[in-house]
Amino acid sequence: MTELCFATNNRKKLNEVSQMLEGKYKLLTLEDIGCHEELAEEQDTLEGNSRQKAQYVWEKYGVNCFADDTGLEVAALHHEPGVYSARYAGPQRSDTDNMELLLKNLEEKKDRSARFRTFITLFLNGEEHQFEGIVNGQITKFWNGNQSFGYDPIFIPEGFDRTFSEMSTEEKNIISHRGKAIRKLVAFLKRNS
Ligand code: IMP
Repeated sequence: MTELCFATNNRKKLNEVSQMLEGKYKLLTLEDIGCHEELAEEQDTLEGNSRQKAQYVWEKYGVNCFADDTGLEVAALHHEPGVYSARYAGPQRSDTDNMELLLKNLEEKKDRSARFRTFITLFLNGEEHQFEGIVNGQITKFWNGNQSFGYDPIFIPEGFDRTFSEMSTEEKNIISHRGKAIRKLVAFLKRNS
């Protein structure tokens, strides 16, 4: 089985992605490859951050690797928080604080449309490949559901009446930004293996 490192320490994300790889690849965590440091995300784009993380792992550890970066882009807030989604309410990176701030900033706004955008960068034998996934939707007025992570409890994907948080991982993977980007990654890996 091909080994591939997913450069994340987020267990919930890792579980989402493992399910999609359907046992075709052995997914290694950062811990598995002996990387115990926080990976830097210093760029001002999702593309740049996912590249920075994947390239770092490939160059320092010599392991085929992919990294993702996701942003929630809210139309009425000029596409904020975007690349700063994790730190929207401050360096503590608290999901609760981030959601509370977003709901507050949208209080007076009629347009609650938003989208999640994920960029994945793969370093395979030193060559770089990028994949993008987008899901459009709406920000709710109140939290719904307590599954999953991040902004899931306040995001309803287009065509649904439930938040991501009220869906199973399988259901979310079918329609989500990361699901779409991962399927592109998996299709690429199948073509090139
Ligand atoms: P990161 O790119 O995974 O670091 O994510 C950036 C920010 O978006 C963090 O606040 C995450 O919690 C949030 N985020 C990433 N993916 C998702 C998702 O699938 N649902 C909800 N929030 C997410």
